[in-house]
Amino acid sequence: MSKATRMTKQKRVILDILRSTQNHPSADWVYEQAKKIVPDISLGTVYRNLNVLRDSGEIIELNYGSTYSRYDGRNENHYHFYCEKCSKLVDVSIPVYEGLDKMVQDTTGFEVRHHRMEFYGLCNECKEMKAKRA
Ligand code: ZN
Ligand code: MN
Repeated sequence: MSKATRMTKQKRVILDILRSTQNHPSADWVYEQAKKIVPDISLGTVYRNLNVLRDSGEIIELNYGSTYSRYDGRNENHYHFYCEKCSKLVDVSIPVYEGLDKMVQDTTGFEVRHHRMEFYGLCNECKEMKAKRA
């Protein structure tokens, strides 16, 4: 297998892994899954491919002030909820507010291409645990 073909295969594997989960995993998790399919893949290769996929817009890299990034195989704009207690990251199924871009554009004169929106708080499990302790 040529170097280029190998790269393409590994990229494909990583993209498939990300598209098959809704958990917005870390690079480490992707690496563990990728090893099951490509046993000799390295963590460095996983990172390199994640960056390539991010730069080409096929995946989204998300960071919430934690030390590691989370990756999303769903690349069209959508919103997220981040649990500040357990770091769970889930999609929020509300329509993307397209009017926001125009509002910011009209206010600033800037060319707005897209926006990101994150909601923070406690997920249902963490909310219940908090209620039980109280
Ligand atoms: Zn939680
Ligand atoms: Mn998502």
